[in-house]
Amino acid sequence: AQGEVKNTVENRKPNLKPPTASHYSVRQKIAEHRKSLPIASVEKRLVEEVNKNDVLIIVGETGSGKTTQLPQFLYSAGFCREGKMIGITQPRRIAAVTVAKRVAEECDVELGQRVGYSIRFDDSTSSSTRLKYMTDGLLLREALLDPQLSRYSVIIVDEAHERAVHTDVLLALLKKVQRARAKPVSERTVNGNGGLRGCQGRKLSPLKLIIMSASLDARVFSEYFGGAKAVHVQGRQFPVDIMYTVHPESDYIDAALVTIFQIHLEENPGDILVFLTGQDEIESVDRLVRERLQHLPEESRKLLPLAIFAALPSEQQMRAFAPAPAGFRKVILATNIAETSITIPGIRYVIDPGFVKTRHYEPSKGIESLVVVPASKAQTLQRSGRAGREGPGKCFRLYPEREFEKLEDSAKPEIKSVNLSNVILQLKALGIDDIVGFDFIDKPSRVAIIKALAELRLLGALTDDCKLEDPTGYQMSRLPLEPVYSRALILANTFNCLEEMLITVAMLSVESIFYDPREKRDEARASRNHFTSVEGDHLTYVSVYRESDEFLEKRRKESGENKVDKIMKKWCIDNFVNHRSLKHARDTYRQIRGHVEQMGFNVSSCGNDMLEFRRCLSASFFLKAAQRQLDGTYRALESGEIVHIHPTSVLFRGKPECVIFNELMQTSKKYIKNLTRIDPLWLAELAPHHYKTDE
Ligand code: ADP
Ligand code: MG
Repeated sequence: AQGEVKNTVENRKPNLKPPTASHYSVRQKIAEHRKSLPIASVEKRLVEEVNKNDVLIIVGETGSGKTTQLPQFLYSAGFCREGKMIGITQPRRIAAVTVAKRVAEECDVELGQRVGYSIRFDDSTSSSTRLKYMTDGLLLREALLDPQLSRYSVIIVDEAHERAVHTDVLLALLKKVQRARAKPVSERTVNGNGGLRGCQGRKLSPLKLIIMSASLDARVFSEYFGGAKAVHVQGRQFPVDIMYTVHPESDYIDAALVTIFQIHLEENPGDILVFLTGQDEIESVDRLVRERLQHLPEESRKLLPLAIFAALPSEQQMRAFAPAPAGFRKVILATNIAETSITIPGIRYVIDPGFVKTRHYEPSKGIESLVVVPASKAQTLQRSGRAGREGPGKCFRLYPEREFEKLEDSAKPEIKSVNLSNVILQLKALGIDDIVGFDFIDKPSRVAIIKALAELRLLGALTDDCKLEDPTGYQMSRLPLEPVYSRALILANTFNCLEEMLITVAMLSVESIFYDPREKRDEARASRNHFTSVEGDHLTYVSVYRESDEFLEKRRKESGENKVDKIMKKWCIDNFVNHRSLKHARDTYRQIRGHVEQMGFNVSSCGNDMLEFRRCLSASFFLKAAQRQLDGTYRALESGEIVHIHPTSVLFRGKPECVIFNELMQTSKKYIKNLTRIDPLWLAELAPHHYKTDE
């Protein structure tokens, strides 16, 4: 019934706001664009296949219209009758958001109404939402509350070829849900305990499952789903000239810059897409491009750098899709999000340094790190393909041709190279107890499973016989955070520093809070001196957050609510703080705070008693402690590895005797980031189940 109310509102919309001539021309353009997509010609056939098959695999070239069109086809074909939803999952947050916006625009509805998205810490849906774009991790969480996913008639698992860890787990879960929903109501249960919660007696239609992939090889998915049918959507691809360098490049950032300007000054019109590994790299290339432009003659300055990465606020992400101003050339600086998840129109040139940042986990050491590794052949081919969507293009690979042959065919499924504690906690909360026997597409290693179970026991989420601990394990599984951070919040509640821990967790969720331009590093450091805590990065983050908050409160009273963003931006510039990151962290703070308050926690602050907070940090992150050695390097206590304090840490010069850290990063050396100085005796006192005193 909710659906009907909604529809009338929608139908009335044109009466509320008379459409203008430009509105019609935009509508017409969109209709033409939709009709021109390769997938448009097979709409009828696809709908038929979905009707005939409960599991369908759709393989199609990037840009053919899978993500934006298929859900609209199914909506028109009546799959949302009786208020049912179509869920479309993405491995990446940013893809869920940008695609939902685009589809809302195509449907001419307001975002959050018929078309919406939901990602961790950001929900733009309503009771009228029928096409829901979301991350696969989020759908896993929904299954905790609604094990039969009863509100969905169709789930489309998109970008399955990426084999992100949550995608793999989701596919396994959907297989179970689908079986359960195919059974007569009386026999229905997804898992041993409580599968029927909340849906007793209600008749559920079978669940349609569609798996979409940009990789031609659909075999793994088809086999996993008992020989499911795969259909191919023919794409459109123009030839792309591939260029290699003669010699290996020692500095690919510099090589990328040289190539950007070479294209800009010598090649025909057309936008450039550069694949970089993360926010830091993107922001520094962005800056360097702008600087170098200043040295060009006026008429050559028409080059517009635009960034696209996950933490970028979505208004800014959308700018990458808008056509460049007349006479300008866009250069899009993107992470591997632009490989297949989103398609930016207008690209004719691709620059591919050949790297990608990924998570790496060594179960024997229990340490997960971020590493930059060579991209796989499949990724490399996807990247060059982006240049040939609208006409012949060129791709510049910043390495010699002989290196290409050495690349791996495709990236390893992520489930084989991450810490599994988060996934296992989720599965346990879903009532799935036998993790080793669980039906994964690719089984994670036994060692990794055992290690994750051990970690969850140490964090107090599981009992000795690996059942969910009551209430800690349940609470932890409800929080949308890595288990160690959920644990930190629960502990902070008892240490009376929940406020500080919320800030910390929010600040740690963004890549780089500080803005550190190479050429102004000293000035930046000096201007941040008053935030800097000798106790470490966490306390420094807390003071940045508190100070920005105080400033904002004060100025808000003076100048009114609507200027918040502007005030914040100015404060950030003055203090060399990354405005985007801080904004993101503030949003995240609000969201997590909402979660813990819902759990009944009272958010209290330790004020200036930072000792208590540091003790709480030790109690929370005891698994990641490191001790200084005679030669000034550090030894990680858990793994025994030699590590170094990262130069961006406020403890880089101080070198305290013992620290806890949150992140291990491997480049030429192993670096630890986000540190706090602790007293080594606290470890034995606060984590006695793990550290014993020497006597
Ligand atoms: P696929 O999922 O098959 O890779 P998509 O459905 O994502 O394809 O994209 C189909 C087309 O829609 C592409 O040509 C792309 O350029 C266009 N498109 C997608 N998002 C936007 C957007 N935000 N603005 C403009 N065009 C878009
Ligand atoms: Mg897609």
